[in-house]
This record gives sequence, C-alpha cells and structure tokens, in this order.
Amino acid sequence: MAGSPVVGSARPRIGVLALQGDFREHIASLTALGAEVVPLRRPEELASLQGVVIPGGESSVMDKLARSFGLAEPLSQAIHEGLPTYGTCAGMIMLSSRIQDGIDGQQTLDVLDTTVRRNAFGNQNDSFEIEIPMPDLGEAPVHAVFIRAPVVEDHGPDVQVIGALPDGRPVAVQQGNVIASAFHPEVSGEDRFHRRFLQLVADA
Ligand code: GLN
Repeated sequence: MAGSPVVGSARPRIGVLALQGDFREHIASLTALGAEVVPLRRPEELASLQGVVIPGGESSVMDKLARSFGLAEPLSQAIHEGLPTYGTCAGMIMLSSRIQDGIDGQQTLDVLDTTVRRNAFGNQNDSFEIEIPMPDLGEAPVHAVFIRAPVVEDHGPDVQVIGALPDGRPVAVQQGNVIASAFHPEVSGEDRFHRRFLQLVADA
C-alpha cells in the first residue's frame, strides 16, 4: 500500500514499545510514513511522545518487562488520558481489559473494553493469512497475517469493530484513541492502520 506520507511539516514523535517483539517492523512502517520514531523503554520517555505503538511478540513477557521497568502504570495512565495508541497481536492483548488463556498472573494495561483470547487459533492454525474486507479503511481488503494471534471474544458498546473474521469474531477494533489488530500489518506492507493511527495523532 504505497502512498504519500500522512505527515507533512509537523512530524509527530511516536514511541514504539521496544521491550520485546517486532518493534523494528513498526519503526520502519511509521518512519516510511514520515513520523519521527523512537524506541520506548522508560517511563520518563513518555512525556515527549504524541503517540505509542505496542508491537507483536509475547504479551506475557512484555507485561513482565513493562512492569519491572516501571512503565506499565504510567503508560496505562497516559493512554487513559488520551494518548493515541495502536497495538498489534501481543499489543492488542496488552491493551485489552480482559484476557482468556493468559499465563498465571498476567496483567494488561486495561485501556480497551475487550475480552481477548490468547493463542485463539491453536496449534494447527498457528499462522495463516486471509483477506478481510474493512470498508472503513477503503475498498481493497486487508491482507491480514495472523501469527499465534488472539481474537476478540467480546467487547463493550464503545468499541467499534473495524474488521472481523468470516465467523464474525472481531480482529480489528477501535475505542476512541486506541486502535488494535490481532494481525500484523507491519509485516505485510499494509500501511492503512498506521495511517489511521497517525491521523488520530494529528487530530489529537
Ligand atoms: N501469542 C502471543 C501472545 O500471547 C502473541 C503473538 C504475536 O504477537 N504474534 O502474546
């Protein structure tokens, strides 16, 4: 999905949570769209950011690291207060208020009114790719790459479904300043989610 950068003169400064996972791919996607992108690891880095991306990876590890770095609580608070945020796969799990099949003691940032099931597709369907129509993002369907992905099992009334599986279960959602997808646009050259996120940043 090549296109012109969304950001012009005012380059937004975006932090990509870089504790674990595929943060490099997000840094590349956002840089290609014209943002200034920095890795986010410490709470004191939050104040300078206009948006945050939480990558794919392993949510239980990301959760432990975010808490031991003292980042989980201030990050959750900043998102609650309106910081535009986009999470993919493990990032979606990190954002969700409720998890099914999490590991013992696994916590989240609790900023998205969803229940997600971790590793929802089991071993046989560990990874797969499908085309999903998402009219909100334009006419072309989204080529969605799922890797040990979660799925949204239920959600509150303020959560907008952007895309769902053929069986109706949501895999891309938005609640105000928070966008989340169960799949990985950052690995497939699909830039419409990053554009939508940067538009939120521009509008904030
Ligand atoms: N299964 C991973 C988790 O529980 C997510 C996988 C991914 O981000 N690709 O966090």
